[in-house]
Amino acid sequence: MATQVRTCPKCKQLMWLKEDQYEQLDSETIRGKCPRCGSTVRFKLVSQGENAAGPKMGH
Ligand SMILES: [Zn+2]
Repeated sequence: MATQVRTCPKCKQLMWLKEDQYEQLDSETIRGKCPRCGSTVRFKLVSQGENAAGPKMGH
């Protein structure tokens, strides 16, 4: 697991969650706490599929 970068749904700020700042709930869900607004937010991990390596640039 690496640093997760997500946008907080509450305050719309990017969150950089290091490995010790989030926990994995199951094979595809992580939970972290937004450092700005303190909201506990859950995210789906994208480990496969066309978005696995991030948004496509151009092409
Ligand atoms: Zn937030």
